Order: sequence, then structure tokens, then C-alpha cells
Amino acid sequence: MKSNLIPVANPHANYLTHATEIDAAIKTVLNSARYILGQQTQAFEANFATYIGVKHAVGVNSGTDAIVLALRALDIKAGDEVITVSHTAVATVAAIELVNARPVFCDINPQTRCMDAEKLESLITDKTKAILVVHLYGHPADMQKLQAIAKKHQLLLIEDCAQAHGAKINGQMVGSFSDVSCFSFYPTKNLSAIGDGGAVLTNNDALADRLRWLREYGWKERYISYYQGMNTRLDEMQAAILNVKLLYLENEILRRNEIANRYQQALTNTNIVLPSTKPGCRHAYHLYVIETQNRQSLIQHLTQNGVASAIHYPQGVHQQPAYFGRIRGCQNLPVTEALIPTILSLPMYPELTNAMVETVIKALLSFGKQ
Ligand SMILES: *Cc1c(COP(=O)(O)O)cnc(C)c1O
Repeated sequence: MKSNLIPVANPHANYLTHATEIDAAIKTVLNSARYILGQQTQAFEANFATYIGVKHAVGVNSGTDAIVLALRALDIKAGDEVITVSHTAVATVAAIELVNARPVFCDINPQTRCMDAEKLESLITDKTKAILVVHLYGHPADMQKLQAIAKKHQLLLIEDCAQAHGAKINGQMVGSFSDVSCFSFYPTKNLSAIGDGGAVLTNNDALADRLRWLREYGWKERYISYYQGMNTRLDEMQAAILNVKLLYLENEILRRNEIANRYQQALTNTNIVLPSTKPGCRHAYHLYVIETQNRQSLIQHLTQNGVASAIHYPQGVHQQPAYFGRIRGCQNLPVTEALIPTILSLPMYPELTNAMVETVIKALLSFGKQ
């Protein structure tokens, strides 16, 4: 659906920015005669692992598959509990149930909007195998505290980095703080394919091997399955596109931060609650999410002034029909439940021009003043 509103995200604009190089990369793949697990995927895995600062990256078909494969490679299975958050994309929780494990919900910290490490320990039982933390909106979760808790209780630590390519804690990239981290390259993400894609990252050589086997039918050698695998491969076309876009990711994260700084500067003295960044962190600003007590009328006002907005997400996972009432921890999520009715995502993507940013700001500043 095309409209004249300034959109919240704009994958087409990102294609146009890099069109010459992307078109050439696609042509190269077409003429390579190798369309699955060839040079492009190999190169992208090496390039992306280097960017995040982790030894291995394994390209897969989506962010959801990345989490499923990570859980399977870590041997998390039926009856095992994985503690995560309800305030996330449903994929985080769906992936846990796809391996027949049980998600458990931990509440979030109101500033980071990520898992509240203070509330985590009381949820741990002898069934708990892993903590699956989400760096939501591109703000890093409190990895130091989560690492300490995981170590103390001998739990696996997994990062869902689908919204956090380029986020850092004290100069270190998220995706490098855990046993295994999972990325999505869905078209609106900070690093995006033109279609589906994902990756699983780890420093563990044996785990990387298992991930490679499991993504392709459990083959250790061609046509011989040693494990019950699946088919979830990053294809050459998407890998070639990602190789182009990865070159510009760092600049695009900086542009996202520039836009966020301008929003911050212009909107500080309003009733709107702005996202904050913990000292020492670099926010990746996948989404710029404000909090407002007048969401419905603000959405309408923005629309009337040429600005689109969106809600990520209108319900916590524990509030959605498929999950309602049946997941441990769902009764005790006061911060999650207070936050959700107030959140609103403003336009945030690297191709937003300064003039567009000012249009968004003007629309917000004129709210309630007409
Ligand atoms: C997008 C997203 C996913 C799923 O990625 P897909 O590539 O769409 O499968 C998982 N977790 C989070 C937090 C996401 O934002």
C-alpha cells in the first residue's frame, strides 16, 4: 500500500540507495550458476562474523529459523524451559515452541524495554536450560548482569539480535555476549535482504559445525544425514545483496543515531516520553519508540500532518490468542502491560531526509495545540 505519508520504515528507499551495486551483485549470482551455499554466502558469513566480532556466522533462511536452529544445536528440547520476554516479536516465542520447549516470561526494565535482570532469578527452576534475551528496538539488554546470572545457574545464554545489528555495549557489538546469537535480515531490519534471511553466530567451533549440519538435512557429507536436520539456507542472491549492504551498515547506524539525536533535542520538553540510551551503550535505533498517554489521537494527528506511525507491538505475546493464559510468568508482567498501551514508533530509517525529520517534529510539537 503506497501513501503519501512519511513512512516508519522504507526498504525500497534502501534498495534505491544501493541499486547500482545490488543490481550488479544479483547479475553476478545469476551468471555464477551457483544459487545455494556458494561463494556469496561463504563471503557474507565471514564478513558478518567479522563485523560482529564473533568467530562463526551460519546463514539461514530467516530470523525465526535462526532461533530454532540455535535451540536445536544447543540440544534444547521438549520440557526444557527457556526464559524470555513477552514484549518482543512473536517469532522469539514461536521459535521456542517450535522445538517443543517451554517459554517462560520475564518482565522488562522500563528504560531499556528489555529483560529485567533483577526479575530473572526468581523464574529459574531445575527445568530452565536457557535465557533468550532480546535487544528490542536496537537497545542492548543488560548483558553483564545476564551473563553473571547465566554463569551462576549454568544456563545457556542466547541473544535475539533481529532488531540490533550494530548495537554496542562499551564498544562491543551485541551478538558477541552469548553462547549463540540470532539475526534476521527481513527487509525492514537494520541490515536487510530483499526477501527473507537470517544468521546464527557463535564462537564455539563444535556448535558452528552442528548449525551447518542442521541447516541442511543433517548432512555431514552430501546425501548422508547424521542428524534430523531441516532446510534453512541463506541463498546466494540474498547473500550477495547482504554483502553490498553490509559495507554501508555502519554509516546507516550512524545516520539512525543522528536522526534520534535530532528527535531527542527537539522533543525533550514535551509530554512525550522519549527512548533513552544507557551510558556506555550504542543504540542501533531499529525503531524509535516513544511513549504517550494519548496514542489514538496522536496517531490521527500525525496522519493528518503527513506522518505515518506504527505500534511494535499492539499486544504482548502473552496477550495474543495463540499464547493467552498458558505460559508461565504471564501473570506477573506489570511493566510490560503498562508500557504496551503507550508505545508508538516514529519514522526511522537512514534515508529520512533532514526536512522529513523536521516535518515529523513539527507534527509532534503541534499536537494538542490546534
Ligand atoms: C524480526 C524479528 C524476528 C524474526 O525474524 P524473521 O526473519 O522475520 O523470521 C525475531 N525476533 C525479533 C525481535 C524480530 O524483530
